[in-house]
Amino acid sequence: MANITIDGVTKRFGEGNNSIVAVDDVSLEIDDGEFVVFVGPSGSGKSTLMRIVAGLETQTEGDIEIGDTVVNQLGPRARDIAMVFQNYALYPNMTVEENMSFGLKMSTEMSDEEIETKVTSTAEMMGIANLLDNTPGELSGGQQQRVALGRAIVRDPNVFLMDEPLSNLDAKLRTEMRTEINRLQNDLGVTTLYVTHDQTEAMTMGDRLVVLNEGDLQQVGTPLECFYRPVNRFVAGFIGSPSMNFFSGTARAGMLQCDGFGYDLSERMQESAGSHGELDLGIRPEDIELHDESVDRNSFEVAVDVVEPMGSISYAYCRAEGQDHDDTFVVEVDGQQLITEGQTLYAHIPSTDAHLFDRATGETLHQRKLDSEIEAAPTEQSQNAGASSSQL
Ligand code: ADP
Repeated sequence: MANITIDGVTKRFGEGNNSIVAVDDVSLEIDDGEFVVFVGPSGSGKSTLMRIVAGLETQTEGDIEIGDTVVNQLGPRARDIAMVFQNYALYPNMTVEENMSFGLKMSTEMSDEEIETKVTSTAEMMGIANLLDNTPGELSGGQQQRVALGRAIVRDPNVFLMDEPLSNLDAKLRTEMRTEINRLQNDLGVTTLYVTHDQTEAMTMGDRLVVLNEGDLQQVGTPLECFYRPVNRFVAGFIGSPSMNFFSGTARAGMLQCDGFGYDLSERMQESAGSHGELDLGIRPEDIELHDESVDRNSFEVAVDVVEPMGSISYAYCRAEGQDHDDTFVVEVDGQQLITEGQTLYAHIPSTDAHLFDRATGETLHQRKLDSEIEAAPTEQSQNAGASSSQL
């Protein structure tokens, strides 16, 4: 097992004006046994960074250390890593057993008997012991992915690298395999880097997230840190599903004038905003309240555009006065709450749950309060409780 250091790594593809900076001066320390998820939209540099750690791509600048050894000059085989890809990459003409034992036969001194024992016990752990004589073509996508994972596990590597390993599976299987990979990583304790563009996978799997955008490192933190304490508007919008709602506004005399409504900034918000005038107000769907009447100055009339029932909750897409269908924001409401399309309601944005971002830089200026902080300031808590008691 091993820790990994990514030190000032930049990767440029191409030359001159046409060159693309896929990874831009990224530095990162990954602890031994840690499960770290690289997450970001398509093209943000996740795969390139992982391929550099694997030795499949060479960085333009910077160093990669695995277990305190600089591995820049080492090829993938010498790095003692095992990779799992989206497309499984199994040998089609080999049986499951041959696929799983191939790497061991090529790269270790283990006897055939030892290899067989190891493959059998891993196949049992992965629930594929009954498939050892089948070829990949005879297996479902989920079974093939288990074989690919099993093949990585038998190698007993220092590091697992997984690049969107669940993308080809249907939704139900993906959820199952997500839990299983979590459990395996916990049990085996092998340092794991996992690439995904799916923020649900990122939230549920990693000890820490590495959020990337356009090759730039945005934030490194636990899933909950990235969710509750996003460092900028990009992370705030990317982590969490559905995304945080943003309202652009201009601050003047303690009031944020947004399209369709005015928002009274609390004293704390005004202090955080300082002299920044052009702001984005951010609020998560579960933190907006919908009332049948105005509850205070920070309530504004909305028309309900679309309601999406999800079961225990529904998503109500609303728009403020004068806004059109492209300008809706989403509110999470209780699934049993009767809200109909076309209904007029009042949206209330509690100041304790709101974030503020500088419009030009995207930098976070103001963070929501956490429950523990609200408990320490009972006045704000009771204000909030009063508002929610009159919720629909
Ligand atoms: P992600 O994994 O986040 O989708 P990638 O790491 O695959 O992103 O790509 C990052 C950027 O680098 C993209 O703009 C992509 O087009 C570019 N890129 C990746 N690989 C190559 C390559 N071999 N040649 C040229 N450009 C590449």
